[in-house]
Amino acid sequence: VENALPDPETRLQELVQRIRQRGGRLTPQRVAVLKVLAESKGHPSVEQIHDRIKVDFPTTSVATIYKTVALLKDMGEVLELGFGDSSNRYDGNRPYPHPHLMCTRCGEIRDLDVSALAGILDQLSRDVGYQIVGHRLDLYGICSECQDRTPR
Ligand SMILES: [Zn+2]
Repeated sequence: VENALPDPETRLQELVQRIRQRGGRLTPQRVAVLKVLAESKGHPSVEQIHDRIKVDFPTTSVATIYKTVALLKDMGEVLELGFGDSSNRYDGNRPYPHPHLMCTRCGEIRDLDVSALAGILDQLSRDVGYQIVGHRLDLYGICSECQDRTPR
């Protein structure tokens, strides 16, 4: 069930609803940020979200994006992926731990479905006697587009 993604419009309305329920402000800029997150499959950074918002809302500050993303994170509605020295990336569609595939050349991050993962986690949980509450599984590589661009 976890693997089924809502369509972007449904997810957008969900996020709007959650913020409304919390009494959060829903400015047009904030809704635009939610829209980018709901539509994105590529796990944008705050800077990338800002670049897209600027087209329609040129005066939006990066701080506005940060605040909205922080609120969503606080609400458990966005998954933050940190990468040490590069920008954090955000998944607004699947706000729970799931495997990712990352291209080390273009930086694209895709979701990766590993159907066996739930069983592996159950097994590990039993083996180590932990109640597993989270995990991080990132696979690194060179995407097919980048392979085509730079043949070796
Ligand atoms: Zn993801």
